[in-house]
Amino acid sequence: MTAPTPAADGGRPDQRLPVADPATVRGDAWRILRADRRRLSWAVVLTCLASVVGLVGPYLLGRIIDLVEDGDASVAAVDGLAAGVLACALAQLVLTRYAQLGAYRFGERALGRVREEFVDRALALPTRVVERSGTGDLTNRASGDVGVVGRTLRGGIPEVFPALMQILFPLAALFWLSPPLGAVVLVALPPVWWALRWYLRRSRAAYLAEGEATSTALEGVTATAEGGRTVEALKLARTRVAHTDGDAWRLHEARRRTLRLRSVLFPVSDASFALPTVLVLLVGGFLHLDGALGLGTVVTCCLYTQQVGPPASQIMFWVEQLQSGTASFARLRGIGRAATAPASAPASPVDDRIEVRGARYAYTDGEEVLRGIDLTLRPGERLAVVGPSGAGKTTLGRLLAGVDVPRSGSVLVGGVPVADLPTEELRRRIVLVNQEHHVFAGTLRENLAIAREDAGDASLLAALAAVGADWARGLQQGLDTPLGAGGAALDPARAQQLALARVVLADPHTVVLDEATSLLDPTTARDTERSLGAVLEGRTVVAIAHRLHTAHDADRVAVVEDGRITELGTHDALVAADGAYAALWRAWHGTG
Ligand code: ADP
Repeated sequence: MTAPTPAADGGRPDQRLPVADPATVRGDAWRILRADRRRLSWAVVLTCLASVVGLVGPYLLGRIIDLVEDGDASVAAVDGLAAGVLACALAQLVLTRYAQLGAYRFGERALGRVREEFVDRALALPTRVVERSGTGDLTNRASGDVGVVGRTLRGGIPEVFPALMQILFPLAALFWLSPPLGAVVLVALPPVWWALRWYLRRSRAAYLAEGEATSTALEGVTATAEGGRTVEALKLARTRVAHTDGDAWRLHEARRRTLRLRSVLFPVSDASFALPTVLVLLVGGFLHLDGALGLGTVVTCCLYTQQVGPPASQIMFWVEQLQSGTASFARLRGIGRAATAPASAPASPVDDRIEVRGARYAYTDGEEVLRGIDLTLRPGERLAVVGPSGAGKTTLGRLLAGVDVPRSGSVLVGGVPVADLPTEELRRRIVLVNQEHHVFAGTLRENLAIAREDAGDASLLAALAAVGADWARGLQQGLDTPLGAGGAALDPARAQQLALARVVLADPHTVVLDEATSLLDPTTARDTERSLGAVLEGRTVVAIAHRLHTAHDADRVAVVEDGRITELGTHDALVAADGAYAALWRAWHGTG
């Protein structure tokens, strides 16, 4: 795939989420089969019974023909045999019905398990991994790949296994009745075997490439839609269209490759399965003329041979589906690798002290954004980070919160690298609040309880009060007010307060606020910060601020310029030092 130009990039991910290797896929698939083995065994037993019963009908039909041919067929005998054929057909119907029911139930439960594990793993992904891989990849895995795996699990087990039985049992019966005719049926196998091998050698890579191309295309379209205003403002429409065209073309090519594989597999297998019936009729006819086989046996063998064709075609179809299902399953299980990789730290922090030592960071190679930061946060202090736009304040906040890891140097919490902490533990200890707030579709109570499930109404209301969200008290349905899609729309300032209330409830020991009150009007912002400060008393707060009253109210102020901390001290000390901060303060105070 060609590298896009930066202008056309639109936030293209530079690191795809991993894909599970074949051994892991096999292990996980086996685990899923075993998890519900009683239901599966029951379906297997019923399927075998249905297949055996299915053999009796053609056999009885052969007997009828033999009786008629011998000329000693009484009406009662033929009726009895015909009733037997009917009974077998009915019994097979009932057995197949329950076998399939069991298999479908198994498939649904297995799919449920795969989905739940996927959600757990996706939620455990470190933010930086999601950001780097792009939301398109994750979205495609959550929707497209889950869908493909769902189709495979729902249909695969209920259809492939019975189909296998429907091939094996008639074949065994054929060999038992007439070994030469059994051997004739095997003539169909070499071309199918060849086509299957040819297909399987190519299909995994082809289907993985198709999945990746779909993710990329989705990512590109999502980026264009999300950045629609920027695209218009910067007149990027042509570039974006060209970009989307490129993605669509690559997806088209990837799909053509998998289509080509299918267009070889299916015709070869269909033709191969038509051949045995013709051969059995021909060879069986000669054997009958020679007197080696009764007419009834030839007819029975013909019916058995015909029984093999449809399930064999069905299996070929499912081989294809299983291949794309396995590729999708590998993409779903691959998430686990990204989720567990950084969480391998055996050590646990000795205290809540956060220390940054010689941290350097670059988003892209060669362009350092942080150039050696040393900072020790005193537990319980309020540190304001100020400085010109683009100086690296947000990046520092992301490192402090463990959202990103420094390229060199370290960020430690209680002596342990922040990024080594398991995601769950990290989020319990340090929370980053920035300007991106999400209001989930659900009630106000549910939106708050995300941060602490066991919080009672009193705590939820107290958290809202602490961030100055007085509007919540005026809501007619109170905490039960539906919000988000389909519910009441919260303006950005209220959504920001909701995010802050979640922080109060989560009660981490360190909070990094990155312009977290920027959407509130200045007076409300200052009030909110003060009351938040009271609630977060004893917690360490790092506030990245563009309004300098935040710095004025803080215990210490760090000035970040060009990726370095150039000044660090109390507001009064820095004003007295008459450096960069004093200049900022004078400018802001004069205008503010
Ligand atoms: P501040 O918060 O002080 O305004 P930032 O930390 O946001 O500064 O940004 C520091 C530098 O890093 C800026 O030059 C910015 O363009 C760059 N930068 C920020 N985010 C990204 C990103 N995701 N990819 C590449 N460069 C980035």
